Amino acid sequence: MARQWPLPRGTFTITSRFAGRINPVTGRPESHSGTDFAVPDGTPFYACAGGTVQYIGAATGYGQWLVIDHPTSEGGGCTEYGHMWDAYATGLKTGDWVNAGQLIGYVGSNGQSTGPHLHLTVWEYGHGGRRIDPETWLAGAGYPGEAAPAPAPSDGPLFGVDVSEHQDGMSLRQAKAEGMAYAIIRTTDGTYRDRTYRSHLDDAESAGMLTAAYHYLRNPSEGTTVAQQVDASLAVMGDARRPVWIDVESPAGLHVDHIRECKRLYEAAGVRVIGVYSYVPYWEGRVAPSEPDSHEFGAFWVADYGRDLRGTPRALYPGNGHARWDYPLGNQKPVIWQYGSNAEVAGRLVDINAFRGSRAQLEALFTGRTLGEDWLAMASEEDVRRIIREEVWPVTHDTKRLCVQMGMDADDDGFANVPGWVQGGHRSFYDLLATAVSILEAIANKIGLSVKTRTFDTLVDPPSNPRNPKLKG
Ligand SMILES: [Zn+2]
Repeated sequence: MARQWPLPRGTFTITSRFAGRINPVTGRPESHSGTDFAVPDGTPFYACAGGTVQYIGAATGYGQWLVIDHPTSEGGGCTEYGHMWDAYATGLKTGDWVNAGQLIGYVGSNGQSTGPHLHLTVWEYGHGGRRIDPETWLAGAGYPGEAAPAPAPSDGPLFGVDVSEHQDGMSLRQAKAEGMAYAIIRTTDGTYRDRTYRSHLDDAESAGMLTAAYHYLRNPSEGTTVAQQVDASLAVMGDARRPVWIDVESPAGLHVDHIRECKRLYEAAGVRVIGVYSYVPYWEGRVAPSEPDSHEFGAFWVADYGRDLRGTPRALYPGNGHARWDYPLGNQKPVIWQYGSNAEVAGRLVDINAFRGSRAQLEALFTGRTLGEDWLAMASEEDVRRIIREEVWPVTHDTKRLCVQMGMDADDDGFANVPGWVQGGHRSFYDLLATAVSILEAIANKIGLSVKTRTFDTLVDPPSNPRNPKLKG
C-alpha cells in the first residue's frame, strides 16, 4: 500500500526536521521527534497510510493529537499528527479505519506551538516503540490529490464468518488470529439441529470473538411449523442462548407472517432477534405477499457474492464505499454484508461478512445494548473493570498531563490553581474528577462491587506504574 505525504505537493514548508533542536517554546535543547510542516491555520491534512485510529483527542504538548496505527498490509508502523484545535473535526473516533490519503484533520497551532503547523511523528513498528525520520519514511511517497484513490480492498471493516456443521473442525481461534472479529453460528435448518453449534460457540468465544446464532427458516409447506423450528433452535442453544438472525432464503419461499411468527417465538423465549438475513431478489420477490418493510425484524444482513472469487477476506472485500451498502431491502440498508463464499479463512473456504464499524458498535448491534444505563445495569464486574481500566484510568492517571491538555499551568506535582470549568458548572477539574469517581463508585455498587470497602485505586487495578490521581476539593 502506497504511502502518502500528509499535505499536497508544494503547499507546505518543513520548518523543523527529525533531529536535535532547541524547543521554540521552552528554549531548552531537545530532540525533535518528528517533522513540522508549516501551512496556514485550518489547512486539511491526510492520512499517510491506511490504518486504525489508535488515539484521538487531547494530548500533552500537542493540545490535540491523532494517532493512526498501520497494519502490515498498509506498510506497517504508526503515524502521529499534532497541534490541531479539534482532533475530532472530521468526525473520527478511536477504532475507526481510515484510508491512505483520507482527510483526517485540520492544521492548528494548539499546545506547544509558535505558529500553525502539522507535527508528524512516525513510529517504526507501533506507538511507543522507535521513532524514525518521517522524511525518510515518506521518501518517494505520493501526495494527496495526485494518486488514484486507495483501492477498495484496503478499506477496513470488521470481518466475520458464519459457520454451520459444514465447517465442523474449523478452528475459529485460528480465524480470530487471522482477523475475524465475529462468528455467526447456525443452530438449525428447519428442525434439523446443527451438531456443531456448541463447539463452534465455545471455540469462538474462548478466542474472544463476538458471536450470534442463526436459524434457517423453512416454509411450513416443507414439513415443519415455525414453532417446531424455533423449539429445535432453542433446544440446540440450551443454556448457551445468543442473539439470533433469521435466515430468509428457503427455496419454497416464505410469507412475511412466517418471519413475524419466528421473531415473536424467539422473543417470547427471551432470545433477542438481531434481524434478518436474505439476498436482494429473494427479499424483493420471494417473500409473500410482496417485498416487506424490514424494519420490524430488526437489522438487515444481506448476501451478495458478486463474482465470488477465491481469496483472503481483505483482498475480496469490495469496500466500505461500494454501492451494495446503499441498496435498501425493505426500506433499510444492510448493516452486514456477506460478500463472498470463497474466502480463505483458517485453511477453509467460507462465507465472509463485513461490518462497517467498531467492535463496540457490532456488540451493540448483536446485544441491543449501548454504553448507557441499560448496559451498566447488565454489565458484569469484568465489563466495569475493563471500562475503568481502558477508558477512565488513562484519562485520570496523570493529572499534570491533564492540566497541560486543558491549557492550565501545572507544577511538578500536577496541581494548579484552577479557575473552574465552564462546561462543568464552574467546578474545578478536581471537583469534576471527584464527581466522576463517585459516580463510578455508585455504578460499581449498583452492580454489586463493594467498593466502599476498597479504595478506588484497588478497584481500577491500574496498569504498570501509574501515578495516582490525587483528588482535591
Ligand atoms: Zn514538531
